[in-house]
Amino acid sequence: MIIILCAPSGSGKSTMVKHLLTTYPNRYELSISCTTRAPRGQEVNGREYYFITREEFEKKIQEGAFVEHEQVYEGLYYGTLRSEIERIQQAGHTPIFDIDVKGGINLKRLFGDEALSIFIAPPSIEELSKRLHGRGDTSEEMIQKRLAKANIEMADACHFDVTIVNDDLQRAKKELEEKIARTKE
Ligand code: 5GP
Repeated sequence: MIIILCAPSGSGKSTMVKHLLTTYPNRYELSISCTTRAPRGQEVNGREYYFITREEFEKKIQEGAFVEHEQVYEGLYYGTLRSEIERIQQAGHTPIFDIDVKGGINLKRLFGDEALSIFIAPPSIEELSKRLHGRGDTSEEMIQKRLAKANIEMADACHFDVTIVNDDLQRAKKELEEKIARTKE
């Protein structure tokens, strides 16, 4: 099985992914994507992402190295490597994908019943706006862009196997584990 986690920016997706990875280090492994964006803060090449140039990215597209790839933000490309899925499965682990909503829908289409696709939703757009403003590290213009994108992405929740509303982080983490366990039965 593979697990796909998608959410509008600010919905707590990364926290949920981290929760699974740290609670069950011998069960799950993160599929590390390629991106053309520059590393942020403490990010390390090969840990959060494989940071590559636009030219390298285009070469990989031509070689068929990606199972899916998207221009997630203007001019910035992100892609899931076929080789990551093989690497993780050969290690006997379940791959987890932290990708954008479009990419998640594409992967689910490819993997069908072998994939559990999960949409993490904020309680509301108002709450999402509050959270994004609360972070204090994003410009107003970027926040407005993210909110507009979130509005569109919320409409795609119906394409996922499961939707979890992140109204309370502890409760949402528990629901995530329950939903995964139920799928395995
Ligand atoms: P960030 O730049 O903040 O790390 O990620 C931006 C967005 O790109 C997030 O929603 C993240 O989940 C998504 N993303 C990361 N890797 C991939 C990928 O391989 N494919 C797609 N489609 N989206 C990705």
